[in-house]
Amino acid sequence: MLIDLHTHTTASDGADTPSGLIDKAIAAGIGVLALTDHDTTRGWKEASDALVNHPSGSDMQLVLGSEISCQDEEGLSIHMLGLLFDAGYQPLIDELDKTRERRLFRMEKIVGRLNEAGIEITLDEVCAMRTGDATLGRPHLADALVARGHVASRQEAFDIFLHNRSKYYVNHYSPTPETAIKLIKQAGGVAVIAHPFASKRGKTLEIEAFDPLIAAGLDGIEVDHPDHSADEKSELVSLAIARNLIITGSSDYHGDGRLNRLAQLTTHPEQWAHLESKANQRRVVKR
Ligand code: AMP
Ligand code: ZN
Ligand code: FE
Ligand code: FE
Repeated sequence: MLIDLHTHTTASDGADTPSGLIDKAIAAGIGVLALTDHDTTRGWKEASDALVNHPSGSDMQLVLGSEISCQDEEGLSIHMLGLLFDAGYQPLIDELDKTRERRLFRMEKIVGRLNEAGIEITLDEVCAMRTGDATLGRPHLADALVARGHVASRQEAFDIFLHNRSKYYVNHYSPTPETAIKLIKQAGGVAVIAHPFASKRGKTLEIEAFDPLIAAGLDGIEVDHPDHSADEKSELVSLAIARNLIITGSSDYHGDGRLNRLAQLTTHPEQWAHLESKANQRRVVKR
């Protein structure tokens, strides 16, 4: 069974609508799919409705979640996947709302830095690249830079202007990973740290930094991720085994034409069963 626990839609910086993602996942024969848009749950309803009413009668299971942007005390960016939580738990939703609001100010700053360097782009052009009030992220800025002809592709925009070590990079308010884990757990869900050793994206977590996360209730580590090297994966497998954490794998799919393919990497069914059992209720959506 194919289990993909990390994907994005137009509710954040993905290219497929939530219902479009459901169509593609069913067509790809996926058994369990998690929807994890950045700092939002707004794609949940459309995706759930699309699955429940799907003409194929598919028995795919949908895991509702979010990839929560976090920052540690040193300003290091960490992404926490919250899965199977109750979206009626307001303290968690308030935290996501706060992050999304700060993302707008942060984008204004990045655009300002680009303008100072003579790269013409406006905040309006960036916002025009998202659907409705989707979570605003650097991929939208990348698309605006492509539309203006400054770069040829989203990837080139990241390679030249938008990567984490760039002089144009600005971070935004986010909760600490401990806070995010606690909120996810209080909301009855499970917490899996996303791509923790993806060194190609920038500086990564020290191994000791896992201690407070585990103490806060971290359930799992996303080991199989397209941005992890073979060495990074094997270090994480050892860590997960030593600390009794669940191992997940996922595509971090953002839509066709973006590098990662749906179910490119997947989670072992036993690991998924263990993870699901840690939520305080069965919240998987299915027909
Ligand atoms: P943001 O949330 O605005 O910081 O943007 C994060 C998103 O940008 C990630 O989810 C990826 O989709 C994308 N991203 C981050 N780093 C890179 C990179 N080096 N190359 C391509 N895409 C990236
Ligand atoms: Zn993304
Ligand atoms: Fe991420
Ligand atoms: Fe992601």
